[in-house]
Amino acid sequence: MSGPFVSSPLVTIAITAFGLVVGSFLNVVVARVPEHRSLWGPRSACPGCGTTIAWHDNIPILSFAALRGRCRTCSMKISWRYPLIEAFTTGLFLLAYAMLGFSSALVPALLLLALLVAVTFIDLEHQIIPDVITLPGIVTGVLANLATGGVPWLEAVIGAALAGGLFFVIIIASGGGMGGGDMKLGAMLGAFLGWQLTLVALFLAVVAGGGAAVGILAAGRKGRKDPIPFGPFLAVGGAVALLWGRRLLTWYFDVFAS
Ligand SMILES: [Zn+2]
Repeated sequence: MSGPFVSSPLVTIAITAFGLVVGSFLNVVVARVPEHRSLWGPRSACPGCGTTIAWHDNIPILSFAALRGRCRTCSMKISWRYPLIEAFTTGLFLLAYAMLGFSSALVPALLLLALLVAVTFIDLEHQIIPDVITLPGIVTGVLANLATGGVPWLEAVIGAALAGGLFFVIIIASGGGMGGGDMKLGAMLGAFLGWQLTLVALFLAVVAGGGAAVGILAAGRKGRKDPIPFGPFLAVGGAVALLWGRRLLTWYFDVFAS
């Protein structure tokens, strides 16, 4: 990267609009994939009264605000998850633009962030990481890198195999303390990030997940046997590694390896 990053107002507006549209679609993914419903139809309806939601009541964030979070027909509360995912996705997309610039690296970055948002909210709500997201995600990661030259394809394949293999060993050693969903999510991170940044992602996920587990146990909120979903920690680790991983690696080697 040469010189300080200067954002273009037009690109910023375009990415904001794109983030809102993708976030809106991710809401459909989060609501429907765990129920094995089609993403492409029928159109979204209110779960309370079944009324199909009109386009003007389905505008990201604005409609939620205009309707004050309630269905126009039956006044049932609309989940806060909808505007949250739209705002969150848009924020992540803008952050990726700020970190990576308007470059070919932005394409796999936005793809990965969108997949991670979907996985995180599904895992938090259902404690599953759907194969229909992660398995195509592994292939998409390698292909996106191949198309954009972001991460050399061999590093992407090694990343997927390394992360998948590490989780496989953990699953065998822990006797099921970690799920196959985490293994496939790890492999997906590897395919997008390459093996170097994947190691950063896994390290961050373990530190964050371990810290949270200790905190939850100490607060007495859960017993030692209750599973804590690891997917969201992997997703956060992956997003941080994607956006700041190179800097973290440079800093680490400057401090510890000089
Ligand atoms: Zn309704």
